[in-house]
Amino acid sequence: MVLFFFCYDIIKMVNSMSKFIPNMYKKDIFSIDYSFLKDKGIKVLLFDFDNTLIEKGNYIINDKTIKLISKLKKDFIVYILSNSIHKNKIKKVSEKLDIPYISGSRKPFKTGFKKLKLDAKEQEIAMIGDQLLTDVLGGNRMNYYTILIDPINYNEIIFTKINRVFERVILNMVKVKRGEYYD
Ligand SMILES: [Mg+2]
Repeated sequence: MVLFFFCYDIIKMVNSMSKFIPNMYKKDIFSIDYSFLKDKGIKVLLFDFDNTLIEKGNYIINDKTIKLISKLKKDFIVYILSNSIHKNKIKKVSEKLDIPYISGSRKPFKTGFKKLKLDAKEQEIAMIGDQLLTDVLGGNRMNYYTILIDPINYNEIIFTKINRVFERVILNMVKVKRGEYYD
């Protein structure tokens, strides 16, 4: 089903490859220039969960991330927007970070984004995540500012591994190379 959707979406989107281009590409959440985002008028940061905020399979949030998020909360409204259905694990982390979350968000569909009911204009919202076909495509479909990062690790579930194959092909088509970061 997921595979079907992505095949369908890839065909449909082939004429608008810009939907697959992130506005910014950085190594990790710590490499992003958040003051640049603030100056751009971004008010809301949506973080993907697995392999963006936290290492996939390891649900202990590290101190560096806790510090970063608590700093960001002074300037931005911060949310977790995850496709994962492991609600309790995400909930625990979100409580520790003291930020709201949406699990099972089904990015790149618009449903999860819409659940957030954000009181902000689309150009004031940034989506940050490690996957092109969920985080970046979903964020771009919403007309948000999109930031791709490298996954913390590649210890991923089978669906993500399949997505990575498509991701490699598409990144190649839109001339974005993993490891060549840009603002
Ligand atoms: Mg992820």
